[in-house]
Amino acid sequence: KRCDIAVIGAGMAGISCARQLAAAGREVVIFDKSKGMGGRMATRRGDGFSFDHGAQYFTVRTAEFVAALADWQQAGWCAPWSGRVVALADDGQPRELVPEARFVGTPGMSALCRALADGLPVQHQLRLLALQRNGNGWQLAFDDGSQWQAQQVVLAIPPAQAAPLLAALPALQTRAAAVEMQPCWAAMLLSDSPLPLAFDAAFIGEGPLSWVARNNSKPARPAMESWVLHASPAWSAQHVDDDPAQVAQALCAALAGHCGGSLSPHQLSVHRWLYAQAANPLPDGFLLQDGVGVAGDWCLGQRVEDAYLSGTRLADALLAAH
Ligand code: FAD
Repeated sequence: KRCDIAVIGAGMAGISCARQLAAAGREVVIFDKSKGMGGRMATRRGDGFSFDHGAQYFTVRTAEFVAALADWQQAGWCAPWSGRVVALADDGQPRELVPEARFVGTPGMSALCRALADGLPVQHQLRLLALQRNGNGWQLAFDDGSQWQAQQVVLAIPPAQAAPLLAALPALQTRAAAVEMQPCWAAMLLSDSPLPLAFDAAFIGEGPLSWVARNNSKPARPAMESWVLHASPAWSAQHVDDDPAQVAQALCAALAGHCGGSLSPHQLSVHRWLYAQAANPLPDGFLLQDGVGVAGDWCLGQRVEDAYLSGTRLADALLAAH
């Protein structure tokens, strides 16, 4: 099988790159190892509830992203989140933050990436295992045994997953391998009644938790009281191989501490992000050599906006190099 450009990774970086390439008339195929779209912009759905268990919201700091956001909002793919977001001080008291506009995909974080990828060919449940030079282009080997030929390749995946695939390009491999991604345990909690908390989300500086958010305070979500709890990078690293059920209980107990008592959730589940956010992102924006580009939030920063900018800047460079 052949394509002009193979984009590996259907997260914000891969999709924004693929969209820009396709808009310039290039033939692009996106591949992702998972069933869904959006990568770490993830939404888990159930009967009458939903959780954004990865990225919580996104902020908008550059003119390029402001322009993109305006189109997406107009199309109804995302909306501002006006929940009360505070910092919880050591004394447990909420402190107001400097106001900042926050946006979320609607009706869930992953919906934004699904909308952005609409019309682009996506091959799901295919994991890239190896990348080899082949004539002027590249040969890709996937875990179902299939082989694809492409003129150019984009790896829009976390560095720990990109580095082993870059054996043919040692300079890129070394750069990717130097970026460390921190893990994050995320707990998802459903409650029959609203939790007694005077905020919709909080940054927490002490203990196992670094962030908690009332998912149903975001626009277009189901009404059922649903909370996402993120453990801090340090706690997540320390407990990375713990039993998920014990992690869920520990995070729930930490939240109960902030509610002034015990909690009896209606449902409690947990997800482990092994590669949540980069501790030491690259400054480059993207990497590119011999028709293989590398993009992702970690090429620029830690956030959705960085993933978008990394993907679109790599697309510009690939178009210029063609
Ligand atoms: P990803 O979203 O990771 O996409 C990579 C894709 O590649 C995935 O879909 C994966 O399945 C696929 N893949 C990997 N390896 C292979 C392979 N070999 N073959 C095929 N497919 C492969 N950002 C914010 O701006 N605000 C926040 O509040 C925020 N909170 C966060 C909280 C958590 C817990 C996490 C995990 C992230 C958070 N982020 C936040 C970061 C944000 O999610 C990322 O910056 C952004 O989503 C990264 O997009 P990406 O396209 O670079 O990578």
